[in-house]
Amino acid sequence: MISRQEQFDLAIVGAGIVGLAHALAAVRRGLSVVVIDRDAQANGASVRNFGFITVSGQERGQVWRRAMRSRDIWLEVAKPAGIDVIQRGAVVVARRPEARAVAEAFLRTEMGEGCLLLEPDELRGRYPQLAGQDFAGGLWSPHEVRVESHEAIPRLAAWLAERHGVAFRRETAARSIAPPDIETSRGVVHAGKVIVCPGDDLATLYPERIAQYAVTRCKLQMMRLADPGFRLPVSVMSDLGLARYAGYAALPEAAALRRKLQVDQRDALDNGVHLIVVQSADGTLVIGDSHHYATTPDPFASERVDEIILDEFSAVFGGPTPRALERWTGIYASASDRTMFVDAPQENVRLVMITSGIGASTSFAIAEEVIDELFGSTAADARKIA
Ligand SMILES: Cc1cc2nc3c(=O)[nH]c(=O)nc-3n(C[C@H](O)[C@H](O)[C@H](O)COP(=O)(O)OP(=O)(O)OC[C@H]3O[C@@H](n4cnc5c(N)ncnc54)[C@H](O)[C@@H]3O)c2cc1C
Repeated sequence: MISRQEQFDLAIVGAGIVGLAHALAAVRRGLSVVVIDRDAQANGASVRNFGFITVSGQERGQVWRRAMRSRDIWLEVAKPAGIDVIQRGAVVVARRPEARAVAEAFLRTEMGEGCLLLEPDELRGRYPQLAGQDFAGGLWSPHEVRVESHEAIPRLAAWLAERHGVAFRRETAARSIAPPDIETSRGVVHAGKVIVCPGDDLATLYPERIAQYAVTRCKLQMMRLADPGFRLPVSVMSDLGLARYAGYAALPEAAALRRKLQVDQRDALDNGVHLIVVQSADGTLVIGDSHHYATTPDPFASERVDEIILDEFSAVFGGPTPRALERWTGIYASASDRTMFVDAPQENVRLVMITSGIGASTSFAIAEEVIDELFGSTAADARKIA
């Protein structure tokens, strides 16, 4: 049972990346923090993802700036928290002239600063691992960072506990909130303010507030492939990513690419497939993914969807496809008209939800904004953050 004596400045519900990012921003201001999570260990989207901290391709403006800031914070905390940065930078392989045109248009925007267009020969020269056929070029970005999420998230939590005194209440479900009381499955926790970061749980806390943002859930299929025998210094994407990631897809040039993909790769578009390939320290590759939307997605990973992902892998990398060692699905909260929201359901309570697949890339910056607003160092209010 939880001691009735303890009183914290801030209680956070949810120990995924969003909750941990808020814990970090709070302890940096000297606040005392307790994190409450119903699971014994991290098990949600934050440990099922690529660990791909993506900057290039994020929606132009605020989201892109948040990704830049969050990337910087990942680099600040990685070493002290014992988190390995496994890859730096990304390459988007343009398989078609229409994809190259999107990459060129991106480079003409302010987001293209520091990025480069690689001619096909240059691309193959720098990255001989990309042995597919008929590339039209590649977009190289220096901004990205890749961490191994299923190690990074527990290490971040352990470091917050050991170095910064954050208290963790695991295997503890938060049931209702009325600051300074948070009623949990293991007794009452006391905190002056509360931030709820529930991931894709749309039903337990403040369901009527969440419903206002028309949130549903998105299921993704992922695989780990055996070590292909090469080392990949950068994360890799392809044309399908240029048609999907908002920072590329919103450019006028992306319309022609989408039309071409409708003809060439209809199955991929219908299943929300785009290719991301990252490599782990042991040489294995994490690849994905797909996007299927439902209030309660079915739990089944379709072999056909995996084949579509593997076909794109093979078009980019050529050669024999390494065998799959693991397959899993992940779910995140999703809204069609926003990438996140901050709601104020009660005084001294904030509800923070990332509603697209970019939580690893943007949470640290969002958390700084929410903590500033809630503890009063800026004039912003919760609606301005959303
Ligand atoms: C397959 C996949 C790939 C992805 N790839 C990327 C990527 O490469 N880059 C990127 O930036 N993003 C990526 N994302 C998105 C990113 O992972 C999510 O946006 C992010 O992890 C959401 O974090 P979270 O903390 O909100 O959710 P979660 O990690 O799901 O954590 C929520 C936590 O809240 C707890 N909880 C909920 N309700 C309660 C309650 N009432 N009481 C106690 N505990 C509660 C849950 O137990 C859970 O631990 C991907 C997502 C998936 C699924």
